[in-house]
Amino acid sequence: MVKTRRELMLEEMGLTPVWRLRGPALAPEGDAAARAENGVLDEASKISGNRSPVTDSGDRRAEIMGLDWVALKGRVASCTDCALHQKRNKTVFGVGDENADWLFVGEGPGADEDAQGEPFVGQAGRLLDNMLAAIQLRRGQNVYIANCVKCRPPGNRNPEPGELHACEPYLQRQIELIQPKLIVALGRVAVQNLLATDASISSLRGRIHQYRGIALIVTYHPAYLLRSLPDKAKAWADLCFAVRVMGDLQNRES
Ligand code: URA
Ligand code: SF4
Repeated sequence: MVKTRRELMLEEMGLTPVWRLRGPALAPEGDAAARAENGVLDEASKISGNRSPVTDSGDRRAEIMGLDWVALKGRVASCTDCALHQKRNKTVFGVGDENADWLFVGEGPGADEDAQGEPFVGQAGRLLDNMLAAIQLRRGQNVYIANCVKCRPPGNRNPEPGELHACEPYLQRQIELIQPKLIVALGRVAVQNLLATDASISSLRGRIHQYRGIALIVTYHPAYLLRSLPDKAKAWADLCFAVRVMGDLQNRES
C-alpha cells in the first residue's frame, strides 16, 4: 500500500499507529485535553499571567520598532549588537509568509542554519517540516519561522540572557509586522524568553498564553524530540491543540 504523506510523517514522528487526525477530535491527550475541553478562547481570556519580556527603554528598541521589512533585514544582516556576531557565518533572519497566521519561534541557529542563513534547515528542521505537514501546513505558506537569536551561539550552547535580550527587539518587530494569529514557541529557551518565565514546558502546555496580545502556545523543540521519543506524542497533542486554537481564532474574526 502506498503511504500518504501524513502516514509517512506520523511514522517519522514515531507516532504510528496511535495517532489519527480525525475531524473535530483535535484535542490533545491527558491533562492538556482536559483543559482544552472547556473552549480554548474562554481559557485564554482567563490567562493573562505571563507577560512579555523586559522592555528596553533605550533608543535602540525604538529605532528597531520603526523599521520596515527591508530595513529590518538590513539591520539584522549587519548587526554587531551582541557577542554572537563574532563567530557567526550568516545571520538567520527568519523565513516565510510575511502575512502568516502561524509563527513558529525556535531558539537560535545551529551549524546548518549558520551556514545557509535560513532557520530550521538541519535535522531538527526536517522534523519541524514534518510536524507542519502533519497539520497541513508548509513552510512559507501562511507560516513564518523565526528564532529568538539571529546568530549562532558557538558550539550550540544556549543563548545567554544578555544575547536574548539584545536580539529580542528584532523578533518583536517581526511579530509586529507579521501580526500572526498564533505563535508556537518551540522549546524551553524560546518559551521562557517569550513568556518571561522560568516555568517548564510541561507546566505551560495545553493552555493559551499571550505575547504582547498575541495568542501563544508552547511545545517541545524538534531537536529535543529527536532525542526523546515519548515526548513526540505530547508534541503531536500540542499541534492538535494549536490547530484547534487557530480554528477558533480564525472563526472569531470571520
Ligand atoms: N534550532 C533552532 O532553535 N532554530 C533553528 O533554526 C535550528 C535549530
Ligand atoms: Fe545582533 Fe541578534 Fe546577532 Fe546579537 S544575535 S549580533 S543582537 S542579530
